[in-house]
Amino acid sequence: MDFSDVTLNAVPGTEICDFCSGVPRYSYPAKSFVVPASELPITGLPDYGSDAGWLACEECHRLIEAEDHAGLLDRTIHVFLARYPVAPGIALKSIEAYLRATIGRLQRGFFAHRTAPAQPWRKAATN
Ligand SMILES: [Zn+2]
Repeated sequence: MDFSDVTLNAVPGTEICDFCSGVPRYSYPAKSFVVPASELPITGLPDYGSDAGWLACEECHRLIEAEDHAGLLDRTIHVFLARYPVAPGIALKSIEAYLRATIGRLQRGFFAHRTAPAQPWRKAATN
Protein backbone atom coordinates (compact mmCIF):
# COMPACT_ATOMS: atom_id res chain seq x y z
CA MET A 1 0.00 0.00 0.00
CA ASP A 2 1.08 3.52 -0.71
CA PHE A 3 0.08 6.15 1.81
CA SER A 4 2.36 8.84 0.44
CA ASP A 5 -0.54 11.09 -0.55
CA VAL A 6 -2.39 10.85 2.77
CA THR A 7 -2.81 14.10 4.70
CA LEU A 8 -4.45 14.14 8.11
CA ASN A 9 -6.34 17.26 9.12
CA ALA A 10 -8.41 17.45 12.29
CA VAL A 11 -12.10 18.15 11.95
CA PRO A 12 -12.70 21.52 13.65
CA GLY A 13 -13.55 20.90 17.29
CA THR A 14 -11.61 17.61 17.46
CA GLU A 15 -8.08 19.05 17.46
CA ILE A 16 -5.56 17.47 19.85
CA CYS A 17 -2.04 18.21 21.00
CA ASP A 18 0.26 17.17 18.15
CA PHE A 19 2.75 15.79 20.64
CA CYS A 20 0.70 13.81 23.18
CA SER A 21 -2.95 13.97 21.99
CA GLY A 22 -3.91 16.05 25.04
CA VAL A 23 -6.11 19.14 25.12
CA PRO A 24 -4.47 21.85 22.96
CA ARG A 25 -3.85 25.26 24.54
CA TYR A 26 -1.21 26.78 22.23
CA SER A 27 -0.54 26.94 18.53
CA TYR A 28 2.91 27.09 17.01
CA PRO A 29 3.05 28.57 13.53
CA ALA A 30 5.47 26.51 11.46
CA LYS A 31 6.48 25.87 7.89
CA SER A 32 5.55 22.58 6.28
CA PHE A 33 8.39 20.12 5.86
CA VAL A 34 9.12 16.66 4.56
CA VAL A 35 11.19 13.97 6.24
CA PRO A 36 12.71 11.83 3.47
CA ALA A 37 12.22 8.13 4.13
CA SER A 38 15.90 7.69 3.32
CA GLU A 39 16.69 9.30 6.70
CA LEU A 40 14.85 6.56 8.58
CA PRO A 41 16.47 3.45 10.02
CA ILE A 42 13.94 1.21 8.26
CA THR A 43 13.28 0.70 4.56
CA GLY A 44 10.03 0.59 2.65
CA LEU A 45 8.31 3.58 4.21
CA PRO A 46 7.14 6.65 2.30
CA ASP A 47 8.39 10.16 2.98
CA TYR A 48 6.40 11.83 5.73
CA GLY A 49 6.33 15.22 7.38
CA SER A 50 4.21 18.01 8.74
CA ASP A 51 1.75 20.36 7.11
CA ALA A 52 1.90 23.86 8.61
CA GLY A 53 1.39 24.63 12.31
CA TRP A 54 1.33 22.47 15.43
CA LEU A 55 -0.85 22.47 18.53
CA ALA A 56 0.43 21.81 22.04
CA CYS A 57 -1.15 21.16 25.44
CA GLU A 58 0.07 22.92 28.62
CA GLU A 59 2.69 20.29 29.48
CA CYS A 60 4.08 19.91 25.95
CA HIS A 61 4.15 23.71 25.65
CA ARG A 62 6.20 23.85 28.87
CA LEU A 63 8.68 21.29 27.48
CA ILE A 64 8.91 23.12 24.14
CA GLU A 65 9.51 26.48 25.82
CA ALA A 66 12.23 24.87 27.99
CA GLU A 67 13.80 23.45 24.77
CA ASP A 68 13.56 20.06 26.49
CA HIS A 69 13.63 18.00 23.29
CA ALA A 70 14.38 14.74 25.12
CA GLY A 71 11.61 15.32 27.66
CA LEU A 72 9.12 16.10 24.92
CA LEU A 73 10.03 12.95 22.99
CA ASP A 74 9.86 10.86 26.18
CA ARG A 75 6.38 12.22 26.88
CA THR A 76 5.19 11.50 23.34
CA ILE A 77 6.55 7.94 23.37
CA HIS A 78 5.20 7.24 26.86
CA VAL A 79 1.69 8.41 25.93
CA PHE A 80 1.77 6.56 22.61
CA LEU A 81 2.78 3.24 24.18
CA ALA A 82 0.20 3.66 26.96
CA ARG A 83 -2.51 4.27 24.36
CA TYR A 84 -1.36 1.55 21.95
CA PRO A 85 0.16 -1.24 24.04
CA VAL A 86 2.60 -3.53 22.27
CA ALA A 87 1.23 -7.07 21.86
CA PRO A 88 2.87 -9.87 23.85
CA GLY A 89 5.72 -11.40 21.90
CA ILE A 90 6.57 -8.18 20.09
CA ALA A 91 9.90 -6.73 21.10
CA LEU A 92 9.01 -3.52 22.94
CA LYS A 93 12.57 -2.21 22.63
CA SER A 94 12.49 -2.44 18.83
CA ILE A 95 9.09 -0.74 18.64
CA GLU A 96 10.27 1.99 20.98
CA ALA A 97 13.46 2.46 18.98
CA TYR A 98 11.42 2.79 15.80
CA LEU A 99 9.07 5.33 17.40
CA ARG A 100 11.98 7.31 18.82
CA ALA A 101 13.62 7.46 15.40
CA THR A 102 10.54 8.45 13.41
CA ILE A 103 8.80 10.72 15.92
CA GLY A 104 12.09 12.16 17.13
CA ARG A 105 12.96 13.13 13.56
CA LEU A 106 9.53 14.73 13.13
CA GLN A 107 9.91 16.70 16.38
CA ARG A 108 13.39 17.92 15.34
CA GLY A 109 11.68 19.18 12.19
CA PHE A 110 9.14 20.99 14.34
CA PHE A 111 11.87 22.78 16.32
CA ALA A 112 13.65 23.71 13.08
CA HIS A 113 10.57 24.99 11.24
CA ARG A 114 8.77 27.15 13.78
CA THR A 115 8.10 30.62 12.39
CA ALA A 116 6.74 32.52 15.41
CA PRO A 117 6.33 32.21 19.18
CA ALA A 118 3.50 30.13 20.60
CA GLN A 119 0.08 31.74 20.61
CA PRO A 120 -2.80 30.93 22.98
CA TRP A 121 -5.24 28.64 21.19
CA ARG A 122 -8.82 27.60 21.85
CA LYS A 123 -11.14 25.32 20.01
CA ALA A 124 -13.47 27.21 17.70
CA ALA A 125 -16.88 27.75 19.22
CA THR A 126 -19.43 25.30 17.87
CA ASN A 127 -23.06 26.05 17.32
ZN1 LIG B 1 0.74 17.51 24.72
